[in-house]
Amino acid sequence: MSIDPKSYQYGDDVLKDRVILITGASDGIGRALALHSAKLGAQVILHGRSTKKLEAVYDEIMAIEGACRPSIAVLDLSIADADAYVALVKNIETEFGRLDGLVHNASILGPRISIEQYDISEWQRVLHVNLTAAFVLTQQLLPLMHASEDPSIIFTSSGVGRVGKPFWGAYSVSKFGTESLSQMLAAENAHNSLRSNCLNPGPVRTKMRLEAYPAEDRDSLVTPDEILPAYIYLLGPDSQGITGQSFDIQ
Ligand code: NDP
Repeated sequence: MSIDPKSYQYGDDVLKDRVILITGASDGIGRALALHSAKLGAQVILHGRSTKKLEAVYDEIMAIEGACRPSIAVLDLSIADADAYVALVKNIETEFGRLDGLVHNASILGPRISIEQYDISEWQRVLHVNLTAAFVLTQQLLPLMHASEDPSIIFTSSGVGRVGKPFWGAYSVSKFGTESLSQMLAAENAHNSLRSNCLNPGPVRTKMRLEAYPAEDRDSLVTPDEILPAYIYLLGPDSQGITGQSFDIQ
């Protein structure tokens, strides 16, 4: 059956009992996805760098009737060391014993400036948060994902992850790398049930979009809630067998 992930229709319990880690769940698209996944029955692990912001999302989920209690995983991706990753994985293993969904959503924009002027340490920071951290987290979590019956990884890409445009610097390069990482993972796991796909959300009304386009009419942009069906499709059972692909939501 072919399904258009943009207009995917699903039942109220499509993610029932799935354990799903969402990076950058404190704001923007990640926050909206965490709340919606909890409404659909998922056991959500909220990752971010701000305990206060994650606790606010936790409280919102606890106010949803019937939602499972979420977990919080605080880890600043720009500075986390090996011990911090090991501790995060250990906590998930102890609490759940498996991971069904991993959504790499956290990213930073970094400077929008020419390659000639791009600060080298900024370049390293953006690539580290957007790409290297996603690689490390994926690698460390793979054993728990293989313990799931229907594991799915979503990487978040961008239009500038497919075409290099002026002044997008390390952000664009990190998203090209993200596409490659997802494709490699899909190919390396072609003979098991793990699927790995990329989603490009398109322009969405969040603080990152405001940072990139401060003069834009924000009312013309879709909200994070409006793009969630594509994420739910890739996290739920209807996308079984779909792997190594890259979707544009808008
Ligand atoms: P936001 O800036 O609204 O949210 C980014 C999230 O990442 C926040 O939760 C933020 O935490 C977290 N984060 C940033 N740095 C770190 C870090 N060092 N450690 C841990 N967490 C961190 O972005 P969006 O919701 O707009 O973007 C989500 C994804 O969608 C990104 O991958 C982005 O590249 C992609 N995207 C977005 C588009 C858009 O128009 N919005 C367009 C194309 C792609 P905190 O709350 O603490 O800042």
